[in-house]
Amino acid sequence: MKYLFGPVNSRRLGLSLGIDLLPAKICNFNCIYCEVGPTTVFTCERKEYTPTADIIAEIDTFLAASQQAKPIDVFTITASGEPTLHSGLGEIINHLKAVTAVPVAVLSNGSLLFQEDVRRDLQRADIVIPSLDAAREESFRKINRPAQCARLQDIIDGLIEFAGSFTGHLWLEILLAKGINDAAPDVAALKKALALIKPEKIQLNTVDRPPLEEFANPLPEAELQEIARQLPGSVEIIADFLRRKRENARSAKKNELLEMLQRRPCTETDICEALNLDSDSTGRLLEELAARGDIARSVHRGKIYYQTLHTA
Ligand code: SF4
Repeated sequence: MKYLFGPVNSRRLGLSLGIDLLPAKICNFNCIYCEVGPTTVFTCERKEYTPTADIIAEIDTFLAASQQAKPIDVFTITASGEPTLHSGLGEIINHLKAVTAVPVAVLSNGSLLFQEDVRRDLQRADIVIPSLDAAREESFRKINRPAQCARLQDIIDGLIEFAGSFTGHLWLEILLAKGINDAAPDVAALKKALALIKPEKIQLNTVDRPPLEEFANPLPEAELQEIARQLPGSVEIIADFLRRKRENARSAKKNELLEMLQRRPCTETDICEALNLDSDSTGRLLEELAARGDIARSVHRGKIYYQTLHTA
């Protein structure tokens, strides 16, 4: 599959089939914590970066072939960059809603919600998870390193406007990095913005996987808990402090590991959780692939990560 990947077990969404709308790292941010790598096309321009018809054809092929398979819980629209930059987003969501009852989730950096066409495209999604990592200009620039065309006040206004009209689930993700966007004035500014946006829930995260920049450091759990207490509304911490126990784990297959590792660096535990694999066969296969030079092995904060070269 070229545009679809998985299904993977997502802690937030259940068994999720990913749909990647972009052919490269196309984004209007260059976040210090990005797992995908540096932004190669730095733009706010919406256009058809990959043929919408090809993505829809792959969705239809998957649905036709999966009649007998275990049903997935959700289609998750994402990208190797910012998915709302793809001008076919609305058509893809509408198609999914027409051909399947499986809910549709969209992950976004939230920066284009001030545009009426983007809000309209997202209206039929069941779950939208935008980000807002900072509500102060200085911290916004430090954490997200936006293109000139992405303005913080537009982003906050867009989130308020979208939250006021969207009838699905709106979960707002905030990622905090130590010493970058976690100071008291940052929390105060976020509180003010959140009180206006009023998302259904707030998902608080910190740096975990190997970030783009070495200086992107995580907050300890106690500090995240303290900030979670200060934010308004329903707040959950989604950082990887606690791992779920797996049931009915199966053996790893080479192709699924390679496919997953093309998208982002993962630990053995990440892979086992996402694909519900047993750790013995997964560990053996990862070591075999690393020994053959099919994947690279690196150590970050005491954890071993595996990754293939990014081919998107
Ligand atoms: S918005 Fe997402 S894809 Fe874009 S740089 Fe930030 S983390 Fe990476």
